[in-house]
Amino acid sequence: MEFKNAYLKKVYEEAVRKNPGEPEFHQTISEVLTSLEPVIDRHPEYEKVDLMGRMVEPERMFTFRVVWQDDNGDWHTNRGWRCQFNGAIGPYKGGIRFQKNVNQGIIKFLGFEQTFKNSLTGLPIGGAKGGSDFDPAGKSDAEVMRFCQSFMTALYRYIGPDIDVPAGDMGVGGREIGFMYGQYRRLKGVFENGVLTGKGLSYGGSLIRPEATGYGAVYYLCEVLKHTGDDIKGKKVVLSGYGNVTWGAVKKLAELGAVPVTISGRAGYVYDPAGITTDEKVDFVYRMRTEGMKDGLAAYAEKFGAEFHPGEKPWSVKGDIYMPCATQNEVAMKEAEQISGSGAKYYIEVANMPTSNEALNYMRGLGTMVVAPSKAVNAGGVGVSALEMAQNSERLVWTAEQVDAELHRMMINIHKVSAEAAEEYGLGYDLVSGAKIAGFKKVADAMMAQGCF
Ligand code: GLU
Repeated sequence: MEFKNAYLKKVYEEAVRKNPGEPEFHQTISEVLTSLEPVIDRHPEYEKVDLMGRMVEPERMFTFRVVWQDDNGDWHTNRGWRCQFNGAIGPYKGGIRFQKNVNQGIIKFLGFEQTFKNSLTGLPIGGAKGGSDFDPAGKSDAEVMRFCQSFMTALYRYIGPDIDVPAGDMGVGGREIGFMYGQYRRLKGVFENGVLTGKGLSYGGSLIRPEATGYGAVYYLCEVLKHTGDDIKGKKVVLSGYGNVTWGAVKKLAELGAVPVTISGRAGYVYDPAGITTDEKVDFVYRMRTEGMKDGLAAYAEKFGAEFHPGEKPWSVKGDIYMPCATQNEVAMKEAEQISGSGAKYYIEVANMPTSNEALNYMRGLGTMVVAPSKAVNAGGVGVSALEMAQNSERLVWTAEQVDAELHRMMINIHKVSAEAAEEYGLGYDLVSGAKIAGFKKVADAMMAQGCF
């Protein structure tokens, strides 16, 4: 990526040098810094104190050993991480990811993105991320419990309701959060349920948290459509993934009269031309993940008479709106060409960094599509986590309607402040740059106000 600003180029090159072998981290730094160029040009005070050099360096990061025993009595050693990236505007906050391919660079990239995203929610939460290279696939409940207990035994001394509040991410759902909270409570001897979010409803979880990321993404999409004078009804939507985020998005899309037609996983994708629109279909998608259904995609296709395309991604399917909800870098140049070639007008990122920088620049450069960035679009998940923290500290439970209304308001505001920030810098309706500028401003102000450390 080309830097026009010499200071930012230097910050980027230093970060690459200091973080060898972490391509995802380099990718997000380069993407964020280039978007911030107009802000850095206009604010020389940031360069004066090397604010950006500080911004790309996590405040701290822990690496720990996680040892656990499987059901056959064999022992395993995994590695765990927690990256407390930026705590300038609130306690560190961000999910925990359990996935075989997780490494230090992936955790750092996610923590960096989380800082901007959390700021955009308008709520007081800093940025963090954690995880492990543990592979949850095919593990029994007892194995997952032993792993989670061991993970929390290492992590508990670094977190707390006013310190750092982890949550779920890929491979970490309600079951894992429950096991981790149980272990935290046992170790600390206190009922500090504000230490984790995404909890079950019986011990302090928030209504609408499971739906929040997907619902929030669709609320954001509705704001984009409002801006372009378009209607969501009847729009064909191509989505990837089949986890909690995809499910929430599909559910809300169906409710608003759109027609979600695909879901996908490592095994391939399902194309359901009739639309994943009935309660029965939407519930099936929910159960695929929560029940750890084996061959769930093929089972969906068979049950509902849809097409299953093994080993393929859904991006060759023609749609009006594309929503990648699965994982980082799932859309590279080839996929970007398929998507733009369909004539679609909307590319709405949902997963964290689902698009390679090259593909993102290509799609933005075409000028035929509105491109919306995940940092803004998926912020409703962590936003409702912050509402869960508020309920926990108040020892109250909000109704589903209350949480949903707050989530909706939050997404309207995120779209608005992003569009306004882009306008302020003469960039037009550029949601990608606008989100970064808006998210950055609050963190930068807080860091400047608090002095250097
Ligand atoms: N893992 C989700 C995210 O990336 C949720 C984080 C949270 O709720 O703290 O935003």
